Amino acid sequence: MSGSVNRICHACGQSFEKRQRDSADQWSKRRYCSPTCSNSSKEVIPLHIRFWKYVKKSTGNKCWAWTGATDQHGYGKIGVGRRIPKQDLKAHRLSYEMRFGPIQNGNVICHACDNPNCVNPNHLFEGTQKDNMQDASRKGRLNPKSMENLRPGKKGIVGAGPLSNKEIKTNA
Ligand SMILES: [Zn+2]
Ligand SMILES: [Zn+2]
Repeated sequence: MSGSVNRICHACGQSFEKRQRDSADQWSKRRYCSPTCSNSSKEVIPLHIRFWKYVKKSTGNKCWAWTGATDQHGYGKIGVGRRIPKQDLKAHRLSYEMRFGPIQNGNVICHACDNPNCVNPNHLFEGTQKDNMQDASRKGRLNPKSMENLRPGKKGIVGAGPLSNKEIKTNA
């Protein structure tokens, strides 16, 4: 029992020993007692950094396309954590939270632009399921052209009308 064969796990802090199957080289590189500890310590790229990798921004307050994975309804999604099965977050909800803060429990994040693939927070607004339905019926009467420039969603305010020219300038 020489002290040199014990090492402290960089994740859990327990000491561990060289395994029979560890070659000298493997052993010299081992930092963790187990695969679980190794996985838990892998450098995780922060969620917001990963998020922006999948966003194709455009100018003029147009839709920002999500280029990552989507669900069956066309909503962007991004995996979080190391849980199995992997947990997915909706990309537009994440975008909204990053801009406006936490979403109230049970509320939905609606697309003023009706483009499920869009993650432009200016096109997103928070509402209840009922608000969402009313918004959909209201938008049925709107000219799709007017959806290009939308009033930024504000927390607690439902709906997003077209922006005035002055607003477009200040938001640009
Ligand atoms: Zn460990
Ligand atoms: Zn949009």
